[in-house]
Amino acid sequence: MRYCPLCREPLSPRRLGGRDRLACATPGCGFVFWNNPAPVVAAIVEHEGKIVLARGVGWPEGHFGLITGFLEQDETPEQGVLREVHEELSLRAEIVSYVGHYPFPRANQLILAFHVRAEGTIVIDREELAEIRRIPPERLRPWQHGTGPAVRDWLLRQGYALPPPV
Ligand SMILES: [Zn+2]
Repeated sequence: MRYCPLCREPLSPRRLGGRDRLACATPGCGFVFWNNPAPVVAAIVEHEGKIVLARGVGWPEGHFGLITGFLEQDETPEQGVLREVHEELSLRAEIVSYVGHYPFPRANQLILAFHVRAEGTIVIDREELAEIRRIPPERLRPWQHGTGPAVRDWLLRQGYALPPPV
């Protein structure tokens, strides 16, 4: 963000709350771009005993992640994650457990991860997802960034032994 969304003047650095922020210098405006992370819900979707991973539209070949999405204004994280699973995979799901929260600084997000169990026939939302894979949990391998650490924690809690990190 380079310009003030209130008065359209250029933003300039200001030290606030112990960090350098971009702020509006116009007298009486006071806009500060805090750049706080956005909460994102993520689902480890268990479907017919397998875990559903998805490749988003525009992602490189071979890159898969969990089902994720932004919360709507009036939702709890539990409602949001079940809505995303329904929108992206057309599955009805229920929460099994909360896995944990994971900072994702590169995307400026805080990921809230849940294990959900889903039933139905998968129909993927082609506007969001390029393809899915269903992986037996014993063959699931966590990746390093984004939703990967949630997968790692979940696998360990389920009792799966993980190979040492490369
Ligand atoms: Zn301003």
